[in-house]
Amino acid sequence: MENKKKLVILSGAGISAESGIKTFRDTGGLWENYDIHEVATFEAWQKNPKLVLDFYNARRHQVVAAQPNQAHHSLVALEKSFDVHIVTQNIDDLHERAGSSNVLHLHGEILKSRSTSNDPITFPVDDDLYVGQMAPDGQQLRPHIVWFGEAVPAMDEAISIVSNCDILIIIGTSLNVYPAAGLAYACNEYTDKFIVDPSTVPLHEKGFIHYQGSAAKEVPTLVNYLLQNKV
Ligand code: NAD
Repeated sequence: MENKKKLVILSGAGISAESGIKTFRDTGGLWENYDIHEVATFEAWQKNPKLVLDFYNARRHQVVAAQPNQAHHSLVALEKSFDVHIVTQNIDDLHERAGSSNVLHLHGEILKSRSTSNDPITFPVDDDLYVGQMAPDGQQLRPHIVWFGEAVPAMDEAISIVSNCDILIIIGTSLNVYPAAGLAYACNEYTDKFIVDPSTVPLHEKGFIHYQGSAAKEVPTLVNYLLQNKV
């Protein structure tokens, strides 16, 4: 039985930025053209399902056209030496396409749909979703996305993953969206903590070592350091 250290990666929109998928708060980003309340809440869905479906259909096209970047790719090498768990706020599948095997999506997955009833069963989506497209239970299909104001069903599992990890790496998240942001504080006092982000993130006082720069450049550097010094 191998006794590998448990290494957890908490990723956000920044890790996919260099794959061409805009972050949430980028100036000029796609999100800038939309009001969150009009496209990413259950109330929006009730008010104008077509607008919501159009918005997520566009997100899906963008994800399908994107490729994993060096940050996604380099994380895969950690699996040889660590027990790696990725907890991502991203709805894209770029970690999986790079080859990571253990990915928990906190906010859903753009390539899946589910019934508007609370049925947790998901269905793969390979084309645009449209109004009138029903789940087997007779309810309208919706994107498998956790909208603002909705509960995050994977949160308990994520807390349990982070709480006993040996190494925590946070990549490309502004830590503004709760409850996911609380995961940065869910590890224990002995955890080795790293953050990769070009922006200043107020976690130094929490003992995080900051690799300041883009994910595609800094994540491979951090991965090499960990493989040489922390196994
Ligand atoms: P955010 O936009 O709030 O923060 C992005 C962070 O990434 C910022 O701290 C920024 O400085 C950093 N960043 C920008 N470019 C970077 C780069 N090249 N390398 C590394 N870091 C970079 O995003 P968030 O914190 O993930 O929260 C926003 C929410 O929007 C999430 O819930 C997420 O589900 C959703 N979202 C997902 C995607 C996706 O699936 N790819 C894209 C946009 C938004």
